[in-house]
Amino acid sequence: MKNIPQHLFPVWAGPGRGRGWSWPLCIKWEAGEGLQSWGLDSRVWCMLCHGGREKLEQACQRGRGALQLPKAMLQLPRLFNIHQVPKVFWEDGIISGYRHPQSSALDCILSSFQMTNETVNIWTHFLPTWYFLWRFCVLCSTVNFLSESYTWPLLVYMLLICVYPFTSSCAHTFSTMSPEARHICYFFDYGALSLYSLGCAIAYGSYVMPDCWVNGRLHHHFVPIAIANTIFCTSTSCYSRFLELQFPHRSKILRTGAFVIPFMFDNIPLFYRLLLCFGGSCTYADALSSHCYHLLFAFLTCFLFASHLPERLAPGRFDYIGHSHQLFHICAVIGTHFQMEAVLADMTSRRSWLTAHSAAPSFLGTLGALVLGILLNLGIIVLFSASLLRAPNLSSEKGVTTNRTLQPSTAAKDE
Ligand SMILES: [Zn+2]
Repeated sequence: MKNIPQHLFPVWAGPGRGRGWSWPLCIKWEAGEGLQSWGLDSRVWCMLCHGGREKLEQACQRGRGALQLPKAMLQLPRLFNIHQVPKVFWEDGIISGYRHPQSSALDCILSSFQMTNETVNIWTHFLPTWYFLWRFCVLCSTVNFLSESYTWPLLVYMLLICVYPFTSSCAHTFSTMSPEARHICYFFDYGALSLYSLGCAIAYGSYVMPDCWVNGRLHHHFVPIAIANTIFCTSTSCYSRFLELQFPHRSKILRTGAFVIPFMFDNIPLFYRLLLCFGGSCTYADALSSHCYHLLFAFLTCFLFASHLPERLAPGRFDYIGHSHQLFHICAVIGTHFQMEAVLADMTSRRSWLTAHSAAPSFLGTLGALVLGILLNLGIIVLFSASLLRAPNLSSEKGVTTNRTLQPSTAAKDE
């Protein structure tokens, strides 16, 4: 400090008595040898005058605030227990780990790196998206999707098995932005699942149909019926959300039925092939073991979705890891993996027989059906979203008292 020259400077202290221009305690420090010993190697100066210390402290405070900004951005959002969030966000048997019901989009994204009751749901569909994309990319290098119409059903199927886990992952990520956003996120989730069932129908209709049914009535009407199923599935599952608060059981039955009916229809050709196998006339058995594993995981998926086990037996024990929705996601993805293997095996082993005995898959019956399915599903989602936004009380609880000034959960583990 001794090497730093000090000067007096005139200072304007504002109008009024005792104010105006004066020479009070104004000191100028210029950079010198002394400052270099503080780690400052560039020329700096600082003035302290009347009220300067306070101003300097305020500036330092602002500086510290600015420096702490990235840290504040990285602070994880707080978590809540079930009674601190509106009823529309409640999950059966899940007591803690709820995110703020009006989180920002950034909070939602950050929450996927924090242990909440949705984190595993997000990742169990986000990571498989990359697995299926990788399988799709590998197939693109070996299969000529552009010119061989025989591969178009596989193309549609592969696209949709990448889309449905990604949509689900996004729905789980952004479902806590508001009650309306939650419903709309899940409308998209249901729409993607419904499209996936259409993709299964397109693939099964082309590759899995038993020999004796090829060119039959069901074969010809398989995809049009699957398109009708997708309308039924998306409409019914979206509608079930409107009943969720007042009639939870009816809502659950409707939603489960909305997905089970297209699944059962899609698998009619496979069930018949398995029946033939039990009768002793097994054909193209390469794919059957994968088909059976797929069916096993599909039934497990349905059971977990409907039963809410294990969290129903021990509410609060499986809030973060091990609750039914996470297991449901995992079983769905493993099931889809076996289904993909089965479809690939059938497509390869039956190629020569199918090309010789049935017409090649048409553009309209494959990619055309996909585009029609997407448009119909988007239309249904827009209709339901519009009616939800027009009547917002349908989306949130009536007469349920909720604490709008949310307090962080004392039970939350990861604050
Ligand atoms: Zn899910």
